[in-house]
Formats: sequence, C-alpha cells, structure tokens
Amino acid sequence: MQMRTATLDYPFDVRPAPGVSTLVAPGVRWLCMPLPFSLNHINLWLLGEGEQCVLVDTGLGDAVTRGIWSEFFVGFERSGERLEQIVLTHYHPDHAGNAEWLAREHAVPVWMSTAEYLLGHALLTETAGYDMPNMVAHFRRHGLDEARCEQFIKRGNVYAKGVPALPREYRRLIDGDHVTLAGRPWEVIMGYGHSPEHAALYCSELRLLIAGDMLLPRITTNVNVPATTPEEDSVMRFLQSVRRFARLPSDTLVLPSHGLPFRGVHERITQLQVHHAERDALLAEHLSQPRCATDLLPVLFLRELDMHQLMFALSETIAHLNHLVHRGRAQRLVGADGVIRFVSPH
Ligand SMILES: [Zn+2]
Repeated sequence: MQMRTATLDYPFDVRPAPGVSTLVAPGVRWLCMPLPFSLNHINLWLLGEGEQCVLVDTGLGDAVTRGIWSEFFVGFERSGERLEQIVLTHYHPDHAGNAEWLAREHAVPVWMSTAEYLLGHALLTETAGYDMPNMVAHFRRHGLDEARCEQFIKRGNVYAKGVPALPREYRRLIDGDHVTLAGRPWEVIMGYGHSPEHAALYCSELRLLIAGDMLLPRITTNVNVPATTPEEDSVMRFLQSVRRFARLPSDTLVLPSHGLPFRGVHERITQLQVHHAERDALLAEHLSQPRCATDLLPVLFLRELDMHQLMFALSETIAHLNHLVHRGRAQRLVGADGVIRFVSPH
C-alpha cells in the first residue's frame, strides 16, 4: 500500500526562533525550543495575554532551554505579562522538563493528568518497575544482544537528565474536562498509546487543537510498550485515540508538538491509519518462521539507530507485534532461552 500523499495545509512556513513567539490564533502564541536529538525542536504554546497567561508544555530541562526561558521571561514580565498556570500534555522530558522549575519561579500551579504525573515521578525515583534494568530485561526478552543491553544500563536514568524534578502537587486533568484557560473554554481529550494519559486540548471557539504528540504532521507518533505492561496493544490504543479527533471540524488548526501547525485533521487521521496498517502488513510478511522483535527491527526501521532511537524503535516494533497478536495475526511464543518470538498462526 502506498502512503497517501500529504494533503495537509500549513498556514505557517517557518517555526519561530528559540525564545521568539509567533501569533497563530487570537491570544495563542507559538514558541519553539531546541532539542539535542534528531528531533531537533519542540513547539510550546502560550495562551492569553497580560496577567492571565497559560503555558502549555515547557521544553527539555537542560541549561540551553533554561537560558532561553530566563531571557524570554525578562521581556515578558517587563511588558506587564504574568504566567497564571502551566499545563502539561504528558510526562516526556521535552514537555515536562521545566515544569517544576517554571512553576516554582513563577509561583503557578501545574495542570496534568494523574497517570502522567505518577509515571514521571516513578521514572525519576526508579520505582514501580520504571527503571533501566527492568526496561533492559524487557528488551532482552525481545532478543536484544548483551552489548546493547549493557549500553542502555550505562546510560543510567536518562529521564532524570531531561527532567531534573517534577512538581510535588498538581491540578488533575480528566478526559472530557471543560477547563478555562486564559479566559477561554477548552476541552481535554485524553489519548493513549504514546504515553499513559496524554492530554490534548481543544478550543471550539478558536477551532484549535493543541495536539501534543498525538497528531504530528510529518513524522508519526512513537507508539510504545513499556516493560511494566509488556503485552499492551498500544497501536490499538493509539488508533482509537486519534479517531476521537475525527469529530473536530475539518478546518481545525492543529498545533502539534513537533513540525508546523496544520489543517487537515481528517486527512492526517486517515494517513496514520494507513501507515500503521502498512507496518502491520510488513511485519506479518516476515513471520513465516518465529522471529523476535530485535530481528524484525530492520523490517520497520531501515536506518542506522543510535541508542536513543533504538529505545523508541524497538518498543514500537514490540507494539506492532503485540497488535498482530491481539488481532489474531501472530502468535507469541516464549522459547527455552526466555526470548519472546512471534510467528504467523497459519
Ligand atoms: Zn511524547
């Protein structure tokens, strides 16, 4: 199956320079922060103006981003503006990295979902199975060689490097909540498959969706299987989640966390459905003999992967294999060597 050609409309050609904001809708500013990965930037959103501003997501908690924020807030406060609250779409370091620091500096609350709050804390404190040895054991069961397992262990707590701290209290967001942000009504639309309880925000007044990582224009959202829920069908969860955006008007402006804002929410949902069906079909073709996720990695990911990319790629391969199992298109076998392999049931 061929990937449908892009039919998305991009009303903005370029993203703003770090620390500079661009108005994308009435009272909605777009900010961009650098990321030291191949995914080289993250989009953040500042809602409202004056003393009622709300920041959605905060960037990676590193010195570079904090330097840009410090400079930004000097000008912001000089012009009489104030932060009123921070909203996090999810716990990932590029979104949550500065939440605790900014909340403390500006004395404002952080709003987020409970699963994202708890999972972030579990990763910081390496509890409840959210530790590198447990992740490595999970990957080892999926056939990852000892040399690369060792490299993961050596990386230590990667989450804590991007998120030095998280707030110790928060205001809870729940699916379907109607919240007022900077004087306008927004609806919380939770999504699954990328992170445990990802909050997207929709404002019907502005026909605007802050999609977080759930709807990206060019790259596809990483869908993953954590070590703590090894048999999870995250692909199904993700596809069910994006289908929930189908009820939004076709001219909705989507504000993604990576890439340019776009219109074409329905086209993008279709593209993602086609993309994941193609990935499933591709993997299914390679299951005439039992194979483990690590062996199947090059079927989905042709390029050379660094350790950061390997973590996402292997987890995504496991997600697709689990999806095939849940749909009766593969069987999951555990060998005498403890390695999980997948094979076609026919
Ligand atoms: Zn994310």
